[in-house]
Amino acid sequence: MADVEGEVIACHECDALHWHTDVPEGGRADCRQCGATLYRLIPNSLDRSLALFASAFVLLLIANSFPFLALEFGGRMESNRLVSGGWALYEMGMGELGLLVFATSILFPLLSIGGMLYLLLPARFGQVAPGMGWVWRMVRALLPWSLLGIFLLGTLVAVVKLQDLANVIPGVALFAFIGAMLAYAGGRASFEPRELWKLSPIRQLDPAVVRSGKALISCHTCGLLRPRDAGLSHCPRCGSGLHYRKTNSVQRTWALLFAAAVLFIPANVYPIMEVIQFGQGEPDTILSGVTKLIGAGMWGLGLLVFFVSIVVPLAKLVSLVWLLRSVERRSNWNPKDRTRLYRVTEMVGSWSMVDVFLVGLLTGLVSLDVLATIRPGIGATFFAGVVILTMFAAMSFDPRLIWDNATMDDEPDPRRADGVHA
Ligand SMILES: [Zn+2]
Ligand SMILES: [Zn+2]
Repeated sequence: MADVEGEVIACHECDALHWHTDVPEGGRADCRQCGATLYRLIPNSLDRSLALFASAFVLLLIANSFPFLALEFGGRMESNRLVSGGWALYEMGMGELGLLVFATSILFPLLSIGGMLYLLLPARFGQVAPGMGWVWRMVRALLPWSLLGIFLLGTLVAVVKLQDLANVIPGVALFAFIGAMLAYAGGRASFEPRELWKLSPIRQLDPAVVRSGKALISCHTCGLLRPRDAGLSHCPRCGSGLHYRKTNSVQRTWALLFAAAVLFIPANVYPIMEVIQFGQGEPDTILSGVTKLIGAGMWGLGLLVFFVSIVVPLAKLVSLVWLLRSVERRSNWNPKDRTRLYRVTEMVGSWSMVDVFLVGLLTGLVSLDVLATIRPGIGATFFAGVVILTMFAAMSFDPRLIWDNATMDDEPDPRRADGVHA
């Protein structure tokens, strides 16, 4: 076990250094400077997360093997599976959208859960899994794109929306999917990455080096600290490339935001789907879909779709532009609030995928030939582009840049982690 007494930790959001402080079981230590969570002490973290991820994996396999939803319409019954949405989009010539739905609702969750099991099983017995750094990097890259909860929200919207058209009957797979989502969320919440790195023979930086006041560089993947003048190109513990700040963060974020803003126009001008009933149909844009929901008395649903499909993408664009400008102008204004804004922007990023899942689910579910059919529209592809690009933009922004130019109080570094929260 690594010696935690006197261990130094760099905050992953603002790079402030902290001495390790003991926290009670179930407690956590926050960064004194920006408020980000530095670490938590979760009782039996490895056991609990292993059990929960294993359950999630099994439930997700069940969810993929049985009927998900069935639709009863005019005496006819059609049932579909979890993959049906993605497949239906592919069959209607929108393969890229089908692939996105399949990847974010099935493939990436399975891969990230599988990766966690690969890491946690040996860790449970005090062993380091071969290629731990590589697998953890893969899991970390896939987590923001594993959207079980958002997919479930999309399912809920689809079921409510279809109520006046047909009778929707939930299948076994839907219940398994809900269970998988809960177990997966629980597994993520009870996992503390530091428990994995404790097993590595490579130790955190010697506190003496920190006291000597040397400039340090922290690994963005595993948090290992090393002196900057050691000239390391890769982290000796996890193998990630070492860089002081995300490479070309500002330029890349600008480019991605610009592309997202351009796509936002066709995403709202072109129809995202078309509902054809008894041979007649009319295309719906995002906004006309919302007005129809509200017109049909489904206020809550209409407002939800409006919020995740229009408010969230616009708010993300505006807040990232503002953050970028503040970094470029070397602003001193309230870095803590700006970091908080960044955190929220990153968190809500994937919510807009609800609309994409909705199009996939409805397309897969409603294909009753003459009676009723729902076809995807090209607007949905543009909209998916907006969601993906703004998510990448949020990821490529480096919140440490906010702190680089801000004047610090004169508290000596490293500090102690802030308080202890139960
Ligand atoms: Zn911080
Ligand atoms: Zn590392």
